[in-house]
Amino acid sequence: METGRIFDTKEFAVYDGEGIRVTYFLQGCPLRCEWCHNPEGQPVEGGRTVRSVEIIDEIRDYAVMWKGCTGGVTFSGGEPLMQEAFLAEIMDGIGDVSKAIETSAAVRGQVFQNICRRADFVYVDLKLMDEEQHRRYTGISNRLILDNIRWLAETDIPCTVRIPMIPGVNATEENYRQTAEFLAGLPRKLPVELLPYNTLTRAKYDAIHKEYRISFDEEDAVCEDTQIFTRYGIPCGIL
Ligand code: SF4
Repeated sequence: METGRIFDTKEFAVYDGEGIRVTYFLQGCPLRCEWCHNPEGQPVEGGRTVRSVEIIDEIRDYAVMWKGCTGGVTFSGGEPLMQEAFLAEIMDGIGDVSKAIETSAAVRGQVFQNICRRADFVYVDLKLMDEEQHRRYTGISNRLILDNIRWLAETDIPCTVRIPMIPGVNATEENYRQTAEFLAGLPRKLPVELLPYNTLTRAKYDAIHKEYRISFDEEDAVCEDTQIFTRYGIPCGIL
């Protein structure tokens, strides 16, 4: 039986999948996005240590409550796929409970495929198309992420590509156009959701006595032109 680390749980989440959901936030992330609103989830160490069986039992209890309505569980983070064995064991242990994952896709292809195949829905982030800019703002290259999204488009796993709208960083016509071109070239047209910039992030850093060190201007313009995507036949909305 695997053990893992979880830094938060959110009940009745509404943006993390269909119906009433419980979201588990798994510890650890390979990225260091400047705008990260879950900085406590970045280090591999931290959170509470739990056995997979505890989470499986907890989810089964929730499933009893959801009986008769749409509900399910979402695994988020940090980057939930960093705890592959732990997560796979939970997903296998909860049977037909609806399972969604929220992932940065910044993991090895084998890991990405192993977990995505177990999910009923995948939310995958695609923050920036320009590799150098991606490295600058998140700390790593986007190549692995693009490869994983390419693979996802070759499957029939339901999924949505999410783009956090960061002022002056990626919420630009140019980045949207490059993203739309990339997505339009895939075997399946994956829908896109644009996520408004989280203006509460700074307050969260204050609360945990951490400096919110950003090199972009929060007041910069944010492109909200969803037609840049729809022109390429890609469904797009702002969350
Ligand atoms: S991928 Fe998400 S959790 Fe990881 S650093 Fe970026 S915003 Fe934070």
